[in-house]
Amino acid sequence: MSDVRDKVERVVRQVVYETMAAGDVDIHRLPERVGRRPLIAANWKMNLLVADARQYAAKLDPHAETGVETLLCPALVLLPVLRGALSNDTLVSLGAQDLHPEHTGAHTGEHSAEMIKDAGASYVIVGHSERRAAGEDDELVRRKLQAALAAGLMPILCVGERFDERERGATFRVLRGQLTLALSGLGQPAPDPRDLVVAYEPIWAIGSGLVASPSQVQEALVFIRDRLGELFSHAWAERSRLLYGGSVGVGNAGDLARLPDCDGFLVGGAGLNPEALSEIIAITARSYGREKA
Ligand code: PEP
Repeated sequence: MSDVRDKVERVVRQVVYETMAAGDVDIHRLPERVGRRPLIAANWKMNLLVADARQYAAKLDPHAETGVETLLCPALVLLPVLRGALSNDTLVSLGAQDLHPEHTGAHTGEHSAEMIKDAGASYVIVGHSERRAAGEDDELVRRKLQAALAAGLMPILCVGERFDERERGATFRVLRGQLTLALSGLGQPAPDPRDLVVAYEPIWAIGSGLVASPSQVQEALVFIRDRLGELFSHAWAERSRLLYGGSVGVGNAGDLARLPDCDGFLVGGAGLNPEALSEIIAITARSYGREKA
């Protein structure tokens, strides 16, 4: 029965999207989107120094009054710098780019969830494709995700297919596998849906200048939300935020932010520039009908 309901809802959402794309529907009024606070997350990767971080904080305009949440994920050593440099009224969240799944112990060079939280972060990216490419498997991603949640950090779980996988029609199989393996054993009760963010990051679009088309993004996000619905519940999945990541910039953020299942972005390259990130936040706010007063 729930299978049928899910299918009907999926079809309805796709029709709404297509009608919206034709310009006939006010996307801001879609009820399921209203409860999800948009999130713009910048992954600085291994870039910027202390002085750069301070300058960045001074230049960033997070448009806090629009209700869009801004998240900066700098190198770990910069977390305390940003915490000090961002004034309280900017309401910018901080996150880490990775964590170790254990609490403590002989893990040279690693950082536990508790340490990351202690340094001022409330989010952590888990399973980024650059870490998966360096040898991280789905089981490790699952353990990291559980460690983050157990410590009260909000994970941003990254999933996405390679170009060859898309070419041979395996995108949904890859996404299903990554989601199921990462989220299995999360247990009941399920985490609060606001505490778990999933980022669809097609690997071929990351840092390549190639952006997935709005319909590719929407289709993948609907698939991800459906899988979350199967793993938890439909109502749960409707409250969880889904991001897109892959060469997002000022020029393409508007079209993507209008997608009914896109609740924001995980931004790499463009997120190194505070003016560009501020503009992406403003564009997202406009797409939600949350313009500056
Ligand atoms: C990323 O690395 O997660 C990413 C989305 O990078 P970029 O925006 O540079 O493609």
